[in-house]
Amino acid sequence: MRIKIWGCRGSIPSPGCDNNEYGGNTTCVEVRLKDGSLIVIDAGTGIRCLGTTLLKPEGPKKVHLLLTHAHWDHLQGFPFFVPAYMEEYSIIVRGGPLAKQSLKAFLAHQMDPPYFPVPFRDLKASFDFRQEDGQSLSIGKVEIIPILLKHPNGGYGYKFIEGNKTFVFLTDNEIGFDHPGGLPDTEYVEICRNADLLIHDGQYTEQEYKISRGWGHSTFRAVTDLSISAEVKRLGIFHHDPRHLDKDLDRYIEECRQQISKEKSRVECFGTKEGMEINL
Ligand SMILES: [Zn+2]
Ligand SMILES: [Zn+2]
Repeated sequence: MRIKIWGCRGSIPSPGCDNNEYGGNTTCVEVRLKDGSLIVIDAGTGIRCLGTTLLKPEGPKKVHLLLTHAHWDHLQGFPFFVPAYMEEYSIIVRGGPLAKQSLKAFLAHQMDPPYFPVPFRDLKASFDFRQEDGQSLSIGKVEIIPILLKHPNGGYGYKFIEGNKTFVFLTDNEIGFDHPGGLPDTEYVEICRNADLLIHDGQYTEQEYKISRGWGHSTFRAVTDLSISAEVKRLGIFHHDPRHLDKDLDRYIEECRQQISKEKSRVECFGTKEGMEINL
């Protein structure tokens, strides 16, 4: 599978010349399977640019949109996803049983007047909403296992298994704090064990966390500890705080690497960046 990052900023889009390297768009990750199937994780503002690349004649006409949760930074790009306006596209929206609203309501609500000029019902693509029951699902030859998040209002991460490769995507997950519906920390270690790639929320420094504890995001240290305990091959830190400039993130990632080498672990740690592609 090939993974491409279209948005890795957390909470709110954060454009700016001091943020260019890691990027300012919010959560959107493309997963291309070996058979060419396209899975898009979340519809943060990164989905706008992804949408324009799909318009090439040879681009896929079927999009599996997999949602983690309904916080705005994960949905707000959807009204700007051009394939949704074109009748040759079919969009299959999947996600767990989140809050008490349907998946359609999550996407459509932000297009209701007076928030947006075009209502959801005017979109031309065909939509298929499949609210999952939290059990594993498959798309093509990939098995996708939903993972409950430790996050205010809940949500799901996903583990993708294609052949002998494993990719775990866990954003908006607060290791070290108990949110209703979340799993014990030890279970995340087992879920991530030996993964080829773990992309995980790492938003705060220890100092920042003194104020933001309970807001649903992990510290750099907590996610690094998780990756070491789980012996993952690669850790991509995700959901960057809007306050963190490129130079700050470079420093925090380097500190994670120092922690990994101090503990004599072989985890390869990097900060996710907009435009980055990872082949598994
Ligand atoms: Zn978020
Ligand atoms: Zn969230």
